[in-house]
Amino acid sequence: MTTRMASLPCACGQIPSVPEGSVREEMDWVCSCGRRLELRREKGAWAIAAALTPERSVPISGFSREIREAPEAQRFFFSHVIGGAPMPVHIVYSTSSRTAEIKAAGMKVTSFSNVDGPLDARRLWVARFESLRLRSSVRPARSNRGVEAV
Ligand SMILES: [Zn+2]
Repeated sequence: MTTRMASLPCACGQIPSVPEGSVREEMDWVCSCGRRLELRREKGAWAIAAALTPERSVPISGFSREIREAPEAQRFFFSHVIGGAPMPVHIVYSTSSRTAEIKAAGMKVTSFSNVDGPLDARRLWVARFESLRLRSSVRPARSNRGVEAV
């Protein structure tokens, strides 16, 4: 099968391949390095819209015991602009229960159910975060923006 290359490589240097003739405007791709990439077609070319980096451990404070102890739980982080600066956001995703818990530094854990994967969890979290941000004119308190104590 011929493939069409995305215009940007994964952070590890590998270039995502997209099935030729795909009519979809976006797709999820798992890199051999373990990163999950959200690919989006922009002006005819595929580009990386989001990337999740696997991590061995997360700051576990705030996450539920159930998901922390789930043997098949997957852990990732991604970067999102919070209060004007890119901040790491941590995802713990359980494939067996299809639940995800997501936590940004200084913020409470948000739980999601019926999640199709870690990239889906990220989309749900970002949509929720942005809708809350737009609804509220209150900026995050400065004390919430520091590095979280573990
Ligand atoms: Zn990679």
